[in-house]
Amino acid sequence: MPQFEGNDLYIEQVKLSDIAKKYKTSTYVYSKSKIVTNFENYKKALGSREGLICFACKTNSNGTILKLLAKLGAGADTTSGGEIYRCLKADFDPSKIVYAGVGKTAEEIEYALKSRIFMFNVESFEELDAIDKIAAKIKIKAKIAFRINPHVDPDTHSYIITGKKGTKFGIPYEEAVKAYLAAKQKKNIEILGIHSHIGSQILDIDSFRLAAQKIKKIVNIVEKNGIKLEYVNFGGGLGVEYKKDQKAPSPKQLISELFPVFDENKKFIFEPGRSIIANAGHLLVKVIYRKISGGKSFLITDAGMNDLIRPTLYEAYHEILPVKMTNDKKVKTDVVGPICESGDFMGKDRMLPFVEQGGYLLITCAGAYGFAMSSEYNSRPLLAEVLVNGDKTMLIRKRAKYEDLLLNEV
Ligand SMILES: *Cc1c(COP(=O)(O)O)cnc(C)c1O
Repeated sequence: MPQFEGNDLYIEQVKLSDIAKKYKTSTYVYSKSKIVTNFENYKKALGSREGLICFACKTNSNGTILKLLAKLGAGADTTSGGEIYRCLKADFDPSKIVYAGVGKTAEEIEYALKSRIFMFNVESFEELDAIDKIAAKIKIKAKIAFRINPHVDPDTHSYIITGKKGTKFGIPYEEAVKAYLAAKQKKNIEILGIHSHIGSQILDIDSFRLAAQKIKKIVNIVEKNGIKLEYVNFGGGLGVEYKKDQKAPSPKQLISELFPVFDENKKFIFEPGRSIIANAGHLLVKVIYRKISGGKSFLITDAGMNDLIRPTLYEAYHEILPVKMTNDKKVKTDVVGPICESGDFMGKDRMLPFVEQGGYLLITCAGAYGFAMSSEYNSRPLLAEVLVNGDKTMLIRKRAKYEDLLLNEV
């Protein structure tokens, strides 16, 4: 996490105010060592047990970050043809790429097969048919797991629950066995395992354990039917500490909870996204104006909901820190963006020094679903991204220009 030394806020050994001057704002800033530590924590938790940690690259698909993780031995969890493309470009071993998603198109399936990815996490009977047909056409056998919806209801925002009855995700629990029996009949399908991903930003281990126990029941029945399931994939979903009073379980706590549910010979796959990259990235913004209106104080920044949509979309909380500590009295203030929507805010009712005009703030813990969900709404060019490594910084994505806004217009 960013740390104060004296009055200055640092990421690793670099002053954030120096990053702001060098690269301008708003800018996403990542800590390399934090990414490495977060990933290594999963690897260590897996221990000597055979398995794969697949980074959920929808959380952050910057090529430099993907390359870093690929080099550390990560696999990739992808949700589209575009993500498979990015992961291949970032040197992920195709045999470590898994592919989930409720709406894989024929083009995407063919691309994935030709790229020789590890496996599809199949989410419907019709998708199974489609994969089988395409695999037959191009004569490449498809390796699959079924994504099973275990019908558990973790305590998280309703938009990011995926394992509850009635969501669009996965094969409904009651139909899981039927799905495996159907797949067994398909000539171009090879069954490798079972998958479940119950949601995101989950802070209680109980939901994971409950899901694992339900998945184990399916595994038993399926294996009794002569279908061997070599891999058990638990998806991602482990939460992070956005607020000081939140307590996130460690990968070790999560994994040691799940191991005993299954036999020793099962291979495990995890697909962490948020818990690898969220707290390794932050959004550095500048205060453009200050104002007091209707008895409220506002800090108006150069980043808007197009740059970081989580507060708007999920009412997500991000801790906001001044980049320079001053003796100014703290006031209760809303931190907002320049966009013409009342939902355009980064934080509400925060106790912050009424930072001077031109001063900087850090919206913390924005590395996951931050840049990746950004858009050009209000014709605002996409932001720059910077990676900090010790006392060095490296630009890993250039700030887009006005010309880029017109790039594909005809
Ligand atoms: C989004 C997603 C993940 C990653 O979830 P996090 O909460 O970011 O860890 C993993 N697997 C699948 C299938 C997903 O859709």
